Formats: sequence, C-alpha cells, structure tokens
Amino acid sequence: MHELIVIGGGPAGLAAAAYAVRKRMDALFISKGLGGRSQRRLRLPWIDDYQVIVGEETIQRFRTQLDYLDFMRVRAAVTRLDVIDGGFRVEVADGKTYDALTVVLATGAYGASLNVPGEIEYEMQGLCYSAMTYAPLMVDRRVIVVGEELLALRAVAELSRIVTEVTLIAETDGDLDGSTGRRVLVADNVAVIRHARVLEGTGDGTYARGVLVEHEGRQEEIPADAIFVEKRLIPNSRLVEGLVQMDPCGFIEVDARNRTSLPGLFAAGDVTSSSAFQALMGLGDGEKAALSAFDYLLDLPLAVSACED
Ligand SMILES: Cc1cc2nc3c(=O)[nH]c(=O)nc-3n(C[C@H](O)[C@H](O)[C@H](O)COP(=O)(O)OP(=O)(O)OC[C@H]3O[C@@H](n4cnc5c(N)ncnc54)[C@H](O)[C@@H]3O)c2cc1C
Repeated sequence: MHELIVIGGGPAGLAAAAYAVRKRMDALFISKGLGGRSQRRLRLPWIDDYQVIVGEETIQRFRTQLDYLDFMRVRAAVTRLDVIDGGFRVEVADGKTYDALTVVLATGAYGASLNVPGEIEYEMQGLCYSAMTYAPLMVDRRVIVVGEELLALRAVAELSRIVTEVTLIAETDGDLDGSTGRRVLVADNVAVIRHARVLEGTGDGTYARGVLVEHEGRQEEIPADAIFVEKRLIPNSRLVEGLVQMDPCGFIEVDARNRTSLPGLFAAGDVTSSSAFQALMGLGDGEKAALSAFDYLLDLPLAVSACED
C-alpha cells in the first residue's frame, strides 16, 4: 500500500507529485500524459511566443523532475477509484490495480467543443478555448465568443475592455438575460447574435478567420481575428462520482486545504469547484493537496500508517 497516489499529469498533478517527492512520501504518480492543458498554445501572426509563457517554465521544472523519477510513474488512464479498507484502490486501463492510503485527484477539465467543420483544422490557430488566458493579447482586434452561459459572458466582459469589437454568438438565451448578461452586453463594442448556430469555422488555410453561422433562417459569415469557444467546462470527475461532494456541474468541492468531503481524498486544479482555470493556480493547488495528504498521514493511527504491501 503506497502512502499517496496522484492522478493526473497537468500543473496540479505535477506539483502534487513533486511536493510528495520533496516530502519523501512513498508516492505513485499515474497520468495519461505530462503537462496537461497548459501545453496547448494559441498561435496567431501577431503573437510572439514570449507573450504567452505563463508559468510554463515552472511547469517544465516540475515535469523534468518527474521525468527523472520515472520509477514512481505509471503512464496510464485511471478507469476506477474505489474505497477499500484503510485507503483507496485505483485501477488503470489494462486492469492493474494500485492501493494507497491517500489520493490526490488532479484530472482537470475540458471545454465543450463546437463539433463543426474547421474546428479541428483551426484549433489553436486562431480558434481557442481560453479567453481568460489570451484576452490580453487581443488589443485592438475583432473577436468572436461562442457560448451563452456565464463562462461566455465572463469572456465577453474581459475581452470588451481590450478589443475593438467582440461578437457573442449564442445558440440559446442561456444566461444572457441574467444580471451578468445585462451588465456585460450593453458595452458599445459588444454585439450579440442570439439563436444562432455555428455551422463552420472558416479560415485562410493557416489561421481561423471567422465563423459561418445560421441565423433567422439564413447563413452568414462573421469575420474575426480570433474565435473563443466558451461553451462550458466539463470536469473529469467521473472517477469519484458518488464518493465526494460536487457542485451541480460536477466540479469537486474542496476546502481551503484541498480536502474533499471524503477523508484521505484530495483534489486539485481545474477539477475542483474553486479553480480559477489557470496553470499557476493549478500548481499552488497541487502543492497544497500534497501537503494536506502528508498531514493526513501524520494523523493516522499507527497501525494504518505503516507502509505494508
Ligand atoms: C487552450 C488552453 C490554453 C491555456 N493556456 C494557459 C496559459 O497559457 N496559462 C495559464 O495559466 N493557463 C492556461 N490555460 C488553463 C490551464 O491550462 C489549466 O488551468 C491547467 O492546465 C489546469 O491544470 P490541471 O492540472 O488542473 O488540469 P489539466 O492541465 O487539464 O491536466 C489534467 C491531467 O489529468 C490527466 N487525466 C485526466 N483524466 C485522467 C485519468 N482518468 N487517468 C489518468 N490521467 C488523467 C490528463 O491527461 C492531464 O495530464 C489554458 C487552457 C486551455 C484550454
């Protein structure tokens, strides 16, 4: 039985694993990949690489540390997580199981996609899923936000302070008529196209240049310098469904020390309801979760805390 299993190789999981190593914990690090969502980078002709390095160097440091510690790493997708006597059992895709006294879950979240032609072709080539990250680079640009919920409205709010024009394309009324919508959508440089469906992401073969929408029975191409798909974030929390408290969208509830409602199970980063969906927050979260797991182990009764296999 290990002391800790960290699940997920993004900023939160990397930081948790690195701090577990520092604390000389008997830890296992299980992830499909290393780096998580922060590895994806928006490319546009006017964006230089140096402008979008946000915490990347720090993440790379953790990554290098764990590359070296390959013996404690399992490259696999976790398919099950069960509570067993005295701890947790984690099963990976090939059926192997690993047991631990504590678990840090750092499996992240993903953005709902448009599923239209051109989306994959232009993904990160002008079409992207993180306005929060890239809004500052859109000075004097014309951009499109696709979505109708709070996530999209927050993106419009942030972008409208920076860009020349932001067009929100909303398939339904969603949250548009709520208090945030009423405040955000009145700005002079914000246009809203309601009840419009995106049919295609259009581009010049290298970069996205707009979207084709169906609106009031006709099709129209709306040009833009960048497109932000801000439809919904979906947490990868299925592994602990029914085990821990979650918010209505499935994000795991944690306290200020990243403890979930189930003793011994900690969560960090974008999979939690307290996430700000930024890599640096994920790093701090992962660190806190590992330190909380360490403290939890110190408090276990002696018979349980001994590492037996
Ligand atoms: C396109 C894009 C660009 C971004 N750019 C930036 C940026 O420049 N700066 C910034 O601060 N933030 C950026 N963000 C936000 C940032 O990437 C996230 O907030 C951050 O990556 C969250 O870290 P995380 O570790 O919680 O989750 P993630 O980075 O999503 O990592 C989750 C990890 O868990 C693994 N995993 C998931 N399920 C399983 C499973 N069942 N078994 C095993 N492993 C599993 C995944 O493979 C992955 O390694 C960006 C987001 C997007 C979408």
